[in-house]
Amino acid sequence: MNYQVLLFYLYTDIDNPEAFVTEHTELCKKLNLLGRVLIAKEGINGTVSGLISDTDEYMAILQQHPVLKGISFKVDPASQHAFKKLHVRVRDFLVNLSLEDDVNPREITGRYVKPKDFYQQMKEEDTVVIDARNTYEYDVGHFKGAIRPDIETFRELPQWIKENQQLLQGKRILTYCTGGIRCEKFSGWLKREGYEDVGQLEGGIATYGQDEEVRGKDWLGQMVVFDERLSVPINQLEHVIVGVDHYDGTPQERMFNCSNPDCNKRLIGSEENERLHMGACSEECAKHPRNRYLNKIIS
Ligand SMILES: [Zn+2]
Repeated sequence: MNYQVLLFYLYTDIDNPEAFVTEHTELCKKLNLLGRVLIAKEGINGTVSGLISDTDEYMAILQQHPVLKGISFKVDPASQHAFKKLHVRVRDFLVNLSLEDDVNPREITGRYVKPKDFYQQMKEEDTVVIDARNTYEYDVGHFKGAIRPDIETFRELPQWIKENQQLLQGKRILTYCTGGIRCEKFSGWLKREGYEDVGQLEGGIATYGQDEEVRGKDWLGQMVVFDERLSVPINQLEHVIVGVDHYDGTPQERMFNCSNPDCNKRLIGSEENERLHMGACSEECAKHPRNRYLNKIIS
């Protein structure tokens, strides 16, 4: 385990994202880091992998950076890089709720709930727990009893909530996501919509899984990550498989993307079923002329 995978974000003012990207790319290259870092006027969001010494140096440099004061990192040990390439890019938003009037989490956001308190409050009456991620992430793993919004991208979440507000009315609301960045905006939006008692899991599921006290308790399945590992364990005490094979409905948590490059949907399925269906989510996708699964076998 000579490597580390870092996950981080910070909402902050970055006046010139283009210049920041140039400077940041240089830094990552110098430290031989791979991964994906997004820079927007509203802040930074990234996940990178590298040798322990290089990632340690990277964290120290970012923590001393005048614009990134207060940034924190989730650190996972690893035996190799979790990415093939380095991408440092400018984005309009770090996460996008597709709102006409976007939420600034530095002005309005839900209260931060530590893992231990989150674990206790989840069980309390009149509390609803909402997964702020997409359905395919929920389907691989989620908190016991959490609501599963039927959405394929984060920007669909406000509309889904509006259509299902009866689930939330008069309740204490707890939200969670992978590292916390989506909840900062989502919980702020809920407050702006008039929900008064809104909490967000501080540091996200990643922190919850590493917390010494809760050790991932009440997490079912795995957590989807956006690197080559695809998913990682969270619950240190027990492992319950909640994923279901796309093809035959049996318990499964192995993931791959639909072999039709235009579809690319994330699927859960065994190696055998992937082979039987040419890695495609549907017959239509299987017949696609650029089917990656077929091309892989031929070449
Ligand atoms: Zn497909």
